Amino acid sequence: MTERCCAACRQVKDRKDLIKITVNHKDGSIIVNPDSLTFGRSAYLCYNKSCIEEAFKKNKLAKQLKTSVPNELKGQLLNELRND
Ligand SMILES: [Zn+2]
Repeated sequence: MTERCCAACRQVKDRKDLIKITVNHKDGSIIVNPDSLTFGRSAYLCYNKSCIEEAFKKNKLAKQLKTSVPNELKGQLLNELRND
């Protein structure tokens, strides 16, 4: 099963079309697009600014990850858009 749903717009997309955000189960750090060696609770977001903004504004990302999400993570996610 490679289809995942965006935490903001709930659209189901293929894994490769979504940014993956994982809470490392070892130390609780939040990792953007982790390698397959990092395990933990994960959330997905579309590669677009509006979904990232909404995920933070409405706390959807924090709810999905069941942890508080630092604001600087938003900058990190927006960076992913530029790398794409
Ligand atoms: Zn979305």
